Amino acid sequence: MKGIADFERSLFELVRRTSVDLPMDVETSLRAAYARQKKGSRAREVLGTILENVELARKNDAPLCQDTGTMTFLFRVPENFDTNMLVAKTRAAVSKATRLGYLRQNTIDSVTGAGYETNIAHGAPIMHFEQCARKVVEAHLLLKGGGCENMGVQYSLPNTKIGADRDLDGVRRCVLHAIQNAQGAGCAPGIVGVCIGGDRATGYAHAKEQFFRKLDDKSPVKALARLERMLLKEANELGIGPMGLGGATTVMGIKLGALSRAPASFFVSVSYMCWAFRRRGAILGLRGDIKRWACK
Ligand code: SF4
Repeated sequence: MKGIADFERSLFELVRRTSVDLPMDVETSLRAAYARQKKGSRAREVLGTILENVELARKNDAPLCQDTGTMTFLFRVPENFDTNMLVAKTRAAVSKATRLGYLRQNTIDSVTGAGYETNIAHGAPIMHFEQCARKVVEAHLLLKGGGCENMGVQYSLPNTKIGADRDLDGVRRCVLHAIQNAQGAGCAPGIVGVCIGGDRATGYAHAKEQFFRKLDDKSPVKALARLERMLLKEANELGIGPMGLGGATTVMGIKLGALSRAPASFFVSVSYMCWAFRRRGAILGLRGDIKRWACK
């Protein structure tokens, strides 16, 4: 049935573009970082190589990084939409993208160590569904590399070691501590997603949700918007720089979210995303046709 087949085609295109074409806001931020570094510095050299890599990936229709990452899809669908169909079409699109080399065979059986040829396995790809009132399907995709995923960390406050109490200054200390500890590993300059509160599972999930935001947006919560600004400045004053080689740009963005919490717990979950910040969204019609790209 033609209408249904369109979903597979459109989702394949979403995966392809996400893998090869860095979003414009991220590229603009990398170019601004490059311009800020001293001529002849290692930071400038690293950023120059990254920018060259970005251009080559786009031109050659090749993945931005050899690690094409863990796939997280976020779908917003109208009421009564057939999500089983969407799951099947997403899996087919991912298999095809793997076969054609837009995704590396990147999924491993955690018990046997065997690889999955198609990237389709228990828990892969990750798919989240939400309902929306509109008569379209929003499809968003995030590809997150393993190196930066390893830099994620969760704090339980209070934490006397880093002097963090259960307040926003405590949150600030956690975020700076996580960036300081990473020392550029996970391929800086990156983006930091944070969740204040929640439990251990929802905290990390909400921290990662922050990566669907644009780099130049700010939290709608005034206190968090203020803290995002302050943290970005302070993190870049640490001087860790691209790949930890020193310089004025360690992170390109810090995005804070918050969830309610239980009285006995106060978690701060920090997720780190590398410079290869591959995220893209598409607005699809009910037959699966791409109406427009949501994040260019
Ligand atoms: S952390 Fe990112 S840029 Fe570094 S190897 Fe992994 S995917 Fe590539």
